[in-house]
Amino acid sequence: MTTAEVRQKFLDFYASKGHTILPSAPLVPENDPTTLFTSSGMQPLVPYLLGQPHPGGKRLANAQKSVRTGDIDEIGDNRHLTFFEMLGNWSLGDYFKQEQLPWVYEFLTKELKLDPERLWVTCFEGDEALGIPKDTESADIWKSLGIPEERIHFYDAKKNWWSRSGTPEHMPAGEPGGPDSEVFFEFTDVTHTAAFGETCHPNCDCGRFMEIGNSVFMEYIKKEDGSFAKLAQRNVDFGGGLERLAAATLNTDDVFVTDAFWPMIEKLQSVSGKTYADDPKPFRIIADHIRAATELIAQGVLPGNVERGYVVRRLLRRAVRVCDTLGVQEGLHAVTAVPEILREEEQFRKTLERGIKELARFAVGGSLSAQDAFQLFTTYGFPIELIAEEAGTRGIKQIDMEGFKELLKQHQALSRAGSEQKFKGGLADNSEKTTRLHTAHHLLLKALQQVLGGHVHQRGSNITQERLRIDFSHPEKVTKEQLAEIEKIVNEKIQEDLPVVRTEMPLEEAEKLGAEHEFGAKYPARVSVYSVGPLDSAFSIEFCGGPHVTHTGELSTGGVFKILKEEAVAQGIRRIKAVLE
Ligand SMILES: [Zn+2]
Ligand SMILES: [Zn+2]
Repeated sequence: MTTAEVRQKFLDFYASKGHTILPSAPLVPENDPTTLFTSSGMQPLVPYLLGQPHPGGKRLANAQKSVRTGDIDEIGDNRHLTFFEMLGNWSLGDYFKQEQLPWVYEFLTKELKLDPERLWVTCFEGDEALGIPKDTESADIWKSLGIPEERIHFYDAKKNWWSRSGTPEHMPAGEPGGPDSEVFFEFTDVTHTAAFGETCHPNCDCGRFMEIGNSVFMEYIKKEDGSFAKLAQRNVDFGGGLERLAAATLNTDDVFVTDAFWPMIEKLQSVSGKTYADDPKPFRIIADHIRAATELIAQGVLPGNVERGYVVRRLLRRAVRVCDTLGVQEGLHAVTAVPEILREEEQFRKTLERGIKELARFAVGGSLSAQDAFQLFTTYGFPIELIAEEAGTRGIKQIDMEGFKELLKQHQALSRAGSEQKFKGGLADNSEKTTRLHTAHHLLLKALQQVLGGHVHQRGSNITQERLRIDFSHPEKVTKEQLAEIEKIVNEKIQEDLPVVRTEMPLEEAEKLGAEHEFGAKYPARVSVYSVGPLDSAFSIEFCGGPHVTHTGELSTGGVFKILKEEAVAQGIRRIKAVLE
C-alpha cells in the first residue's frame, strides 16, 4: 500500500469508531514552550491528557507531521527518519484497554491485511517499588484476540513505559505517563545470530522485528514526592509510524522502499549510475534530508544559522555533500525544484569555494594545525574528509587529525548540552513558574502590539521555568522608552488581576474576534481560545491550548515583569527575553 492509502485507512477506521479527526498541528509549536519541533501526535495534546476538555471531544485521531533531530547524523539505516508522520488515536478519559487493543488488532489485520501470525506484542512487567502492577490485563486481551503466549513478551520500564521524559525516575513532577503495549511485525526470513544475544525476542536488534505501533495507557501522574498517583482520567495514546506501517504492508523493513522516498531514490540511481541495493546509505540520507527540509521550508522554517533554521541548513549541506560523493553531477537539482533549497545549495557551494581558498592560505609550511582545520570546519562547514582531500591536492602533508578530533568532541559536548537542556527545560513543564510566564507571554505580545503597532505578530516562542522568549515581526530596534512602556503595560495588567478565560468556539468566530494565531498553523473547526479579561472586553485573545493561571494577579507571586534583552534574530524579526522576578 502507499503511505496515502495507509493514512486514509487509519483515519477512516477511527472515524468509524466515533473519533474526531484533527488536522496535523504545525511542525513549529508556537504556543508550546517545550521543544524545537513537534515530534509526536500527543505533544500538542498534553493539556487535554491532563484533564482539560478538548473541543473535539473525548475520541481524537490524526496523522501528525513530526520532526526528530536528535540523531540526524545517524540517518542512513532502514527505519530512522528525520521527518515522518505519526498516526495517532486518543481516548481522553473515555475507552481503555478493552477497546483499544482489539481495534489495533483489527486495523492491522483487517484494514492493512497484515498476517496475524507475524504480529508479536509486548506488555509492561510492572514495578513493585513504584506500586505499578504487571499489565496482565493487556496480555489477556491479546491472548483473547488469538496472539499465543509465546508471542507476548513482558519488559521493564525501559521498554514498556512511556512518558515524554522517558522512564519513571526521569519524569518531573506533574508529568503524565503510563505502561504501554507495543506491536511488532516479524520478518520470517531473518535468522537471529548469537551476536545479538542468546535468544531472540521482539526488542532484539537482529532485524527480525520492527515496531509498528504503541498503545500507551496513560493513567499515572508523578507527584512532587516522587511517587505515582492515578490521573483524574484514564487516557489512551496510540502512535504508529506511517512509513513503517506502509513498509510492513510491502513486507519490507526498509521504509525507503515506500512511495514516500522511492521516486527520489530511483532518480538518484539513474543520475548517479549507482545502485541503491549495493550501498543504500547515501541514497537514504539524501532522500530523508530533502524530504524533511522540504516540509520544514513549507512551514516557514528557512535555512539559517540558529536553532530551527540551522537544522534545515545542516540537512541541506549534508545532502549536498552526500550528493557529491554519490557522483550526482547536477547536485540537488536532480531531486528537487524547491527554490529555497536550491538557493541554499548555491550559497553553500560558494562558501565551500571560499573555504578552499582559506585552506590554501593556511597551507603555508606544508602542515595544517588542529585549530585551522577546526576553523574551516566551523566557519565554512567543511567536513574533515573534505579538508583532508583538499589539503592533499594542495601539498599539505600533515594535518593534526588527533587535535581536530579532540576539538570536535569538546564542541559537540557543548552543543549537545545546550539542546538537551532546551528539550528538558520544556518537558519539565507544566510547572507553576512556566505557566505564569506563559500568561506573561500573552500580555507581552499584546503590549508589543499596543506600543509598536498592529504589524507585530509572534514568529517564535520558548518558555522555561526561568524566562520567556518571544520572536516577533518588527522592522527595527525597539527603543529603551518603548521597552519601558511595554513593561509598564504588562505590570499594570498584572496589577488589575484580570481573569484568564478559556473559551471553545467555532474557528470563524475566533477569527472574527481577531484572536492571534500561530504563523502557518491549520486549525480544526472548533478551537480553544484564551482571553485575558472577559471575552467581550478582553485585553488579549489568542488561539492557545494553555495552560494558564486563572487571574493575572497570580503572576505577582513570581515577581515584577522585566525585559532582560531585546535583539535582532533575522531580517525583520526581533527577540525579547523577559522574566518575572
Ligand atoms: Zn534476534
Ligand atoms: Zn498561549
